[in-house]
Amino acid sequence: MSIPDATIASPSAFVEQMVGELSLQPDLLDWEQYWRDVGSDVSASVDRAGTPHVRMFDALGHRIDEIVYPPDYWHLLGEGYRRGHIWRAFDEGSPMPFLLMGYVTSFFDPGLFCPYTVSMATAVAVGKYGDAALKSQVLPALLRADANAWQGATWMTEAAGGSDLGAAVSTVARLNANGQWRLTGDKHFCSNAGADVAVVAARPEGAPAGVRGLALFLVPRMRADGTLNVTLRRLKDKIATRSVPTGEIELRDAEAWLLGSADVGVYLILETLNLSRVANAFGAVALLQRAVAEATAFGRARVAFERPIADHPLLAAELDSRAMSLRRAFALAWEAARRLEEVWQERPRYSKRYHEFRLVAHLAKYWTAECAIEATRWAVEVFGGAGTLAENRVERWVREAMILAIWEGTPHRQMLDGLEVALRHGAHEPLIDSFRDVAAARDVDAWRQRWRDHLAQPSDAREATITPIFRDFATFVAEAALARLESA
Ligand SMILES: Cc1cc2nc3c(=O)[nH]c(=O)nc-3n(C[C@H](O)[C@H](O)[C@H](O)COP(=O)(O)OP(=O)(O)OC[C@H]3O[C@@H](n4cnc5c(N)ncnc54)[C@H](O)[C@@H]3O)c2cc1C
Repeated sequence: MSIPDATIASPSAFVEQMVGELSLQPDLLDWEQYWRDVGSDVSASVDRAGTPHVRMFDALGHRIDEIVYPPDYWHLLGEGYRRGHIWRAFDEGSPMPFLLMGYVTSFFDPGLFCPYTVSMATAVAVGKYGDAALKSQVLPALLRADANAWQGATWMTEAAGGSDLGAAVSTVARLNANGQWRLTGDKHFCSNAGADVAVVAARPEGAPAGVRGLALFLVPRMRADGTLNVTLRRLKDKIATRSVPTGEIELRDAEAWLLGSADVGVYLILETLNLSRVANAFGAVALLQRAVAEATAFGRARVAFERPIADHPLLAAELDSRAMSLRRAFALAWEAARRLEEVWQERPRYSKRYHEFRLVAHLAKYWTAECAIEATRWAVEVFGGAGTLAENRVERWVREAMILAIWEGTPHRQMLDGLEVALRHGAHEPLIDSFRDVAAARDVDAWRQRWRDHLAQPSDAREATITPIFRDFATFVAEAALARLESA
């Protein structure tokens, strides 16, 4: 089914076409209009300006580590909090409003969805695992329905690497004489570096080595005495996602609260990541839509050999194929969101449904980012030489897409974690079976057999040959999810 030009040009119209009338639709339309009227220009100027400035000291020489964006930027960011990027999910008991608003945000600026995502992940972690005192102190501030809502962040990665957190995290958590936690260490990739509170991975003193010794803590930006609790060494100079400041954070005896119980900390860390992975998938699909929208508009206007280039058979076929890829990618992200909605309040030990969700989240994070990279590169190609010029903006989407593939775990990480959940929990089998009503019986049987054969290999061979099976399986799940959406 082709997508009308007016639909491809509008994130809310496309969402509506894919999943039907949504109760949130009027707000989505308003949010989209705000982006068209105000947000796009602010976002473009932030991208052009590059890494923002950090004001490290005030006039009296006090350390303040203030990230200096133009006032318009703060207004835009605050507008998203006010309109419900975070609080709506808690009001409605579902992550869907957060993801749908994120879809619209990401169509215009995938980087800006990051502050909302990490704030959401922080609020969910505090809501599930904070004790009563912490919840009453922090949650209302994170869920304020105005532009002054507190912002969250999720800081796990250290300089030794983000993929192998068990080996790389050397931040230590110590209990002081008053029974309060204090964290010391350096976090190397800290998005939303100016956040009011952050969830942070650290190893309690004396805990075992490896990933099982990690625990999750909540760290406020300011100490109880009003001085800085975390300091910002510098902001990273990134190729894109410039509308979220990513910095290096130093923790020196930083005040912290333990979330949940330390012996299941690794699961809490992974819950945070899995929620962000679904959000990342929504961001990647929105960016993919943006690329197809830009290429469509340019292709209708640019004439070569006496016809708009979009009317030449080669480009017309490519536009159709990208539209199909967009529909499939959306269906896969939607499948992940639907499953997240079922399990987002689960705690360890998880149900089988949770493990199925995890597998879909890995597939969606991996596959949607790959599709976004391919489509944004292709959109530059459609623009020809004009596509390579910064002033025409389409090159920005390639830069944004490259980062969506890396953070929240690289493609390798998604594949290897997907392999683990198939191996340890057999999550692929119920997932495959759940599509029996919409997929051909022979495909369902063939997939069960292909996974069985794959998992029967020795460990090194299983890892070395995971790429084609993961890629093809993502396509199978995306196609089945699309068939389900179309039959609804
Ligand atoms: C803009 C940006 C913002 C970020 N913000 C945050 C943030 O807010 N919080 C946070 O915690 N992190 C953040 N990150 C860090 C991000 O999560 C890591 O970059 C990512 O997890 C990869 O870690 P790494 O960069 O250390 O690469 P490494 O872990 O060193 O990996 C290097 C390469 O080795 C591959 N690799 C690793 N292990 C294996 C294996 N077993 N088999 C095969 N290949 C393997 C990886 O896939 C990758 O290709 C951010 C990153 C970026 C780029």
